[in-house]
Parts: sequence; structure tokens; C-alpha cells
Amino acid sequence: MPDVDVLVVGAGPAGAVAAWQAKLAAPELDVVLLERDRAVGAPVRCAEGVGDAGLREFANPDGADWVSRRITDVIFEAPDDTQVILANSGRGWILDRTRFDAFLAAEAARAGAQVLVGAEATAMSRNGDERWYVRVKERGRDDVYRARVVIGTDGVETMVGRWAGLDTRVPARDMESCAQYVLQGIDFNPDAIYLQFSNAIAPGGYAWVFPKGVGVANVGLGVVALKSDGRNARQYLDDWVTRRFPGGSRTGYTVGGVIVHTTITKTYGDGVLVAGDAGHMINPLSGGGITNAMKAGRLAGCHAAAAIRARDTSERRLSAYHNAWMELLGEDHLKYYRLKQALEHMDDAFLNSLARTMNSIAPSKRTLGRVLTHALIRHPQLIPVAARFFV
Ligand SMILES: Cc1cc2nc3c(=O)[nH]c(=O)nc-3n(C[C@H](O)[C@H](O)[C@H](O)COP(=O)(O)OP(=O)(O)OC[C@H]3O[C@@H](n4cnc5c(N)ncnc54)[C@H](O)[C@@H]3O)c2cc1C
Repeated sequence: MPDVDVLVVGAGPAGAVAAWQAKLAAPELDVVLLERDRAVGAPVRCAEGVGDAGLREFANPDGADWVSRRITDVIFEAPDDTQVILANSGRGWILDRTRFDAFLAAEAARAGAQVLVGAEATAMSRNGDERWYVRVKERGRDDVYRARVVIGTDGVETMVGRWAGLDTRVPARDMESCAQYVLQGIDFNPDAIYLQFSNAIAPGGYAWVFPKGVGVANVGLGVVALKSDGRNARQYLDDWVTRRFPGGSRTGYTVGGVIVHTTITKTYGDGVLVAGDAGHMINPLSGGGITNAMKAGRLAGCHAAAAIRARDTSERRLSAYHNAWMELLGEDHLKYYRLKQALEHMDDAFLNSLARTMNSIAPSKRTLGRVLTHALIRHPQLIPVAARFFV
């Protein structure tokens, strides 16, 4: 029976960074990172957009082969296609997630973690000896790993959280179903991301165009099923793409869920932590979760390592991880969630008029904070939160 100090389940951004940072924090520990798929980073279920500052906390994107495109502009689109252009509104990147996730896992391996692909955790239990016993299926064989701390970074469908008795349920109104094509041969500004808000196009979410290069982009949308007219996300996407990019070639397709909720109330237990999508650590307003996952993974790896060194992996000790996350971003997500709820009440007519109001402001004075602030005129108590959102 393999005996390890830290077993990380799921090699997305949260898991790779958790394994990497646990090893950096305590090189003497045995750290194993499991990935159920045959390759880290594939298949991609993501539009691959990240902000510059958060990314640089972990890796330098300048000239990196895991970057597809540098972004400088954001273009908001109203339901009637009116565009509000925020030029030079901040720097961001469109990643190549297949390469990026592999890069992060390679960093974990370089730090000394063992990375296993095609290795799926299928069950987990505790036996009274302060260890978790995790059943792992690898190449048709079943192994049981004994671990002091298990870090669940197994994404939206997390099982680790459930096996550990954590409440990872998602209210239906906070689960977005997303569908996305890679579209080739389409016309758009390759230095800009496009976000279109409309209850008719993407109820409860938004539609996006994230450039991968000149003429090629991730084009997708997210919908909340409770708000849909009976169509699923792919049907909404087909209707939008047919109207918007009739000549585009669909060379890739993906679906996935995004949890636009707040952090689960308890992300820890005896000898266990959950991080990233598994802990609902996505920004509920933007639906972005890559950077958050890495930040949570870093905290989880460091807290797990420190707890093992201190020979105390109890729930009480590991609760410090939850507190650190809440202080870092979790508390902000509670505010963004309230903001999201307020914005949900805007109908398409209001969104169209908002776009026209924004366009009457000089381009140099148009900021994301101002857009949100105008949108929230009816909820003035949330305006300071809105102004801080994209700062
Ligand atoms: C359509 C779509 C578009 C998105 N666009 C963006 C975007 O543009 N920007 C952004 O920031 N975020 C975006 N997101 C969200 C982002 O993809 C996630 O927040 C991010 O990937 C979370 O990282 P993670 O490591 O927590 O989970 P994941 O990246 O989901 O990684 C979890 C890993 O665990 C593995 N796994 C699961 N179960 C097991 C098991 N039992 N044993 C072993 N391995 C297991 C999975 O195979 C997977 O590799 C998007 C999501 C979707 C669905």
C-alpha cells in the first residue's frame, strides 16, 4: 500500500499548484498528484481567459508557449449588439490550457511531486489511524493509497468533498451550463475579448468571444437552466453563432459547468482540504476560476505541509486554510455574489439603454467600474463593491 504525506486528487490548476507548493514548503514530504484523464490539460473545458496580475503570481506569460494571445481591450455588447469598447482597459491573456495545465504539473514534478496520469480516485475512507485510505484505479488496477492529508482539487463534480462529508451541493440557480466552439475564419478584433449580456441570448450568464489568434476564437456562452426557455446551452449557442458568425468553421466543441456560487461553508475536515472549483471558489460575477484555483491551491498545499510538519492534521488545525482563503478572496466573493444577484434583475431593454449611456461617456473615462456603477443605480449600496470589482 503506497504511503504518502499529501495526496492531491485532480491535476487542474488548483491541484498542480497545491502539489507544487506543498513540495516547495516541505521538500521532505511525499506528495502525489493524481489525474484521472490520460493527459494533464486535456480535454479543455474553458474559454482560457485570465488577468495579468493573478497569472504573474505563478508564472511569467511573456513569450511562454502556453499563451495563445495577449488581450488589451474589453468590448461589452448589449442585446441589440450595441458595443461599448473599453480600449486598453487592462492586460489579460488567453491561455492554451492544454499546455498551461501541463506546464503547472511539470512545475510540481520539478519540485519533486510524483504526477500520475490515468489515475482516478474512486473512493476514500478513514480508519481511525489518522490517515485517509484512497482507492485509486490506474491502468485497470486498483491500489489503495494511505495519506496524511488529501487535497480535493477534482473540479466541479468533486467527489473528494462528498467522501469527506463536506456540503458541496450547488443551488440550481447558481449552476451555469456552458457550451463553446472553437471557431475559425471569423472576423473580430483579436486584441479584445467580447462579452454579450442578454436574457434572450444567454439567460443567467453571458456569451463570449475569446481570441486564440487572428480569425480564430473560443466562442461560447453560459446559461442557467432555470431561466432558459427550454433550449439547452448548445442550442442557445447554435442560434447565436449562426446569426453572429455564419461563415465560421466549428473546429472544436466543449461543454462544462460553472458554479457561480460562493465558497462552500467548510472546505476542510480531519486530514482533508478542498480547493478550486471543488470548493466553489470561482468568481461568481465573472465565472472566472483559473487564477482563484491557483491561489487556493497554493494555500492548500502550504497549509497541508505545515500541518504535517506540526504533526497535527486535525480539522481544527486545517480550519486555518479556510480562514486564509476567506480573507484572501472568499469574503470578496460573497460581495460579488450579491452584485450578481442585483444585476440579474436587469432586462434587455435596460441593458440596451445602459450601453447607450456608456457610449455617451468619453472613451478615456469609460471604465469597467463605471459600467457596473451605472448598472447599479437602483442598488446604490453595491456601487462601492462594483467600483472595486475590476480594479
Ligand atoms: C466553458 C467554460 C469556460 C470557462 N472559461 C473560463 C475562463 O475564460 N477563465 C477562467 O478563469 N475560468 C474559466 N472557466 C472556469 C475554469 O475552467 C475553472 O474554474 C478552473 O479550471 C478550475 O480549476 P480546478 O483545478 O479547480 O479544476 P479543473 O480545472 O476542473 O481540474 C480538475 C481536474 O481533476 C480531475 N479529476 C476529477 N475527478 C478526479 C478523480 N476522481 N481522480 C483524479 N482526477 C480527477 C479532472 O480530470 C480535472 O483534470 C470556464 C469553465 C467552463 C466550463
